[in-house]
Amino acid sequence: MAAAPVLDIARARRVAAAVVDPEVPVLTIDDLGVLRDVRDEAGTVVVTLTPTYSGCPAIDQMRDDVLLALTAEGFRDIRVDFTLSPAWTTDWMSEAGKAKLEQFGIAPPTHRAGERQGPIPLSLGVKCPRCGSLRTREVSRFGSTACKSHFECLACLEPFDHFKVH
Ligand SMILES: [Zn+2]
Repeated sequence: MAAAPVLDIARARRVAAAVVDPEVPVLTIDDLGVLRDVRDEAGTVVVTLTPTYSGCPAIDQMRDDVLLALTAEGFRDIRVDFTLSPAWTTDWMSEAGKAKLEQFGIAPPTHRAGERQGPIPLSLGVKCPRCGSLRTREVSRFGSTACKSHFECLACLEPFDHFKVH
């Protein structure tokens, strides 16, 4: 057997970055800001993910998908670590990711988490992704998944999911 080839960590990062969110398949984990780091640790590809919130069931699927994608690309020694600190916030979502979310029919986060102040409800000013109206209301704190809340538009009467700010 020949010596182990040099690990192409840049390629590993591209492969990991292309893995999509199982709940919102237009978004990659890189768009979401869930992918924190890909590094070469003595020949092992070490991928670090931060769940969108602790207990989000999608993170296990994301880990499996990262492992599968890297394995399919020929990487052999792979480890996926989770880090909860610093905690993920919607601020980590890329602008491209927010645009894709809206095209997918999910209202993106309306403001930066750091700007959240006082008793103003988070539902304030959530824009309908279909008609753009701000006349929307939160129907349920939990939408199709626990990471999203469910809204309805009072202008076009369409229901939609809103990616929670947190
Ligand atoms: Zn609407």
